Amino acid sequence: MTRDAETTVDLLGLLPEEAEARLLEHFHARGERAYRVRQVRAWLYERDAAAFEEMTDLPARERHALAEAFSLAAPALVQAARSADGTVKHLWRLGDGELVESVLIPADNRLTLCISSQAGCAMACVFCATGWSGYRRQLSAGEIVAQFRGARRWARENGRGPITNIVFMGMGEPLMNPKGVFPALTLLNQAYGVGARRITVSTVGVVPGIRELARRPEQFRLAVSLHAPNHELRQRIVPIERKHPIPELLEALREFEAAGGRRITFEYTMIDGVNDSPALARELADLIGQFQAHVNLIPYNPIPGPPWRPSPPQRLRAFAATLHARGIEATVREPRGRDIAAACGQLRAEHETSPPRPFLQLQQALAGSAG
Ligand code: SF4
Repeated sequence: MTRDAETTVDLLGLLPEEAEARLLEHFHARGERAYRVRQVRAWLYERDAAAFEEMTDLPARERHALAEAFSLAAPALVQAARSADGTVKHLWRLGDGELVESVLIPADNRLTLCISSQAGCAMACVFCATGWSGYRRQLSAGEIVAQFRGARRWARENGRGPITNIVFMGMGEPLMNPKGVFPALTLLNQAYGVGARRITVSTVGVVPGIRELARRPEQFRLAVSLHAPNHELRQRIVPIERKHPIPELLEALREFEAAGGRRITFEYTMIDGVNDSPALARELADLIGQFQAHVNLIPYNPIPGPPWRPSPPQRLRAFAATLHARGIEATVREPRGRDIAAACGQLRAEHETSPPRPFLQLQQALAGSAG
């Protein structure tokens, strides 16, 4: 980032046609030919330049002039933590010092990038490390896209191949940051060429955001963190249930499905003795049977604080079998990167200097959620 990053326009946050128009104007005013725009575009969208100085096919005076006129919100890499299973977690420091995480997850022929949409999160889901550390601020579209650029560049330089899929499942609730996330979706799809069907927005159930996503012409995917099939239990695990209860959520999902016939993924964190009984599996099947649904069953990833454990394998299998028997596709997800604290918010928590929420609050929430 340049020294004037606070006052100059972040090129990475502009939609491609707008960036191009600004660059054209900039070069025109300097008496430069239009092909300079193509050169910069390639550095922005293909070569993932982190600074204008890297754009070495432009003369030094033009690189300098670009750095005076614009900024690139390229975050600094604080740590790249590699798991034995191939998962790599990056911790990024943003311009104002905030820390956010992204995770590269290799599987079969895919390389999926999980990115963050907010620094911290206000949703306070009880099982989530990010939720416990609280909300800091929204990420700009440029800062969201910068994680993709940084991770893609790292993957290239470390022989990991191209990123094939993107999931908004890192820190933050993406649909609580529409001003950052919706332009970022456009950018990733149009400027960086990631197919809309390869980009998944994961929400804990922000109904207005689901409706907005349904109205988009592109076929972005949607994942919904459900975690419980009824209001009573869900509100204890996922507080947003109190604001947008299950019937309202289902209505928005029907709109999403009707808008493009896209299959919806339901995420369900399996917590031993809390939400993993056969009766709840049957209730879940009844609830989502109306959709072309796929359920990901994710063993709870322990975080400091809650006394919970992941559901044991036989309970996971029984839950999945109950769903299958009722015609619902379900996959048990292998936990990835546990040796590098790959669950959302964990790596940042280790680098945090501010104190966590008062322990009392945690205890109260757990007392309410244990039933
Ligand atoms: S699970 Fe997602 S929405 Fe819930 S607190 Fe964590 S980051 Fe926020």
